[in-house]
Amino acid sequence: MSILNTVRYMTELFTFIMDADPEEEEEISQFDVLGNSVKLVVNDFIVSSVLKVVPSIPMAFVMPNTLGMLDTDYCIYVNKALWALPNDQIEAVLDHEVAHIENGDLEDQVRLAVTNMVRTFGLNKVSSMEAAADQAAVDKGNGEGLYYALRSIRDAMNKEGLAFNKEINLRIKSLKQYRYRTYEE
Ligand SMILES: [Zn+2]
Repeated sequence: MSILNTVRYMTELFTFIMDADPEEEEEISQFDVLGNSVKLVVNDFIVSSVLKVVPSIPMAFVMPNTLGMLDTDYCIYVNKALWALPNDQIEAVLDHEVAHIENGDLEDQVRLAVTNMVRTFGLNKVSSMEAAADQAAVDKGNGEGLYYALRSIRDAMNKEGLAFNKEINLRIKSLKQYRYRTYEE
């Protein structure tokens, strides 16, 4: 990413975060994962602030209640762009996030740090944690949804000049067998 692009992107992100209302939040549902209470929330401010993504890029992440700020054990945050994707894509992304809870990924700070490093530096690798969470969505029958969700995310990233992200391309590639047979690449 060029310096000019980086400056433009960070300005766009910063402007959005400064103008966004942190309280603007829609709680979609609450459910149980292995005895843990989990809520699903749409909040553009939190997703942009934590993941450093502009709101046009569909994103989701799961936050544990480590700091006692939540009224549930975990919260899955999605932004409006993610929530606007077709249902099968949303479902696959939620399968992926739930798998992070089931696999105990959020309790392993070292692995989390490595995963973030892979992303930040755009290394040509998929973290084992991400691969396992993708596999969980496939096992639940949502491989096609995940394939298209990741493509939606990648396309939105490319539009914003974030084409350096190699991890997402590798994840898409490994899901290629789940594309609709009628779909021409
Ligand atoms: Zn993940």
